[in-house]
Amino acid sequence: MRRIGLLGGMSWESSIEYERIINTEVRERCGGVTSADLVIRSVDFSVIESLQAADQWNEAGDLLVAEARLLEAAGSELLVLCTNTMHRLADRIMAAISIPFIHIADATAAAIHRAGVDTVGLLGTRYTMEADFYAGRLRDEHDLDVIVPDADGRALVHRIIYDELVRGVVDDGSRTEMLGVIESLVADGAGGIIAGCTEIELLVTPSEVTVPYFPTARLHALAAVDAALASSS
Ligand code: GLU
Repeated sequence: MRRIGLLGGMSWESSIEYERIINTEVRERCGGVTSADLVIRSVDFSVIESLQAADQWNEAGDLLVAEARLLEAAGSELLVLCTNTMHRLADRIMAAISIPFIHIADATAAAIHRAGVDTVGLLGTRYTMEADFYAGRLRDEHDLDVIVPDADGRALVHRIIYDELVRGVVDDGSRTEMLGVIESLVADGAGGIIAGCTEIELLVTPSEVTVPYFPTARLHALAAVDAALASSS
């Protein structure tokens, strides 16, 4: 089993779910009391959030590159960056390390294809919904059509993430509002919905969505298990 490096804390509300999902899956697949071999770095999200808000992506990249190198130096054999938004810096991080990087959009795209969906609605932070690093990868490398909410919907989803979910607040009213955004995307032609922020799946579960639903933290964590166990059979 390969050692997985988790670069998390963005926010820790979802990072702890990675640890839970990975360990649960390893136990199910390997049996007994087997658990995952992990190295975990959890950064101070207030630093990351400030850099995002100030549009200081280079500085955020410097920080995450240093953390990724730490995880590699600590013996990680795979790197998992536990956030969609900070995959904006994935290319820089990948170039700075020599271990495989499990890209969250690739793990998500694989699940979308397995479900036979070709047009997906993307929910996430405004950075994820409005820049092209995520939707562009889904389009160009995975041949998917991607639609995002309108401006009001994007503002709502972004607000729920930063004012509530990363602070541990899971609110029924916000769930209803998020489901409204999801239904608008479905009405606009989305055959599936990407919970493209790792905290959204803490608020909305698959049973609440009328089309296939892609929880990125879960899919990413399972892809990490696949990679960790691939070489040990
Ligand atoms: N966890 C979130 C994501 O998946 C948002 C927090 C962040 O900005 O990293 O995008």
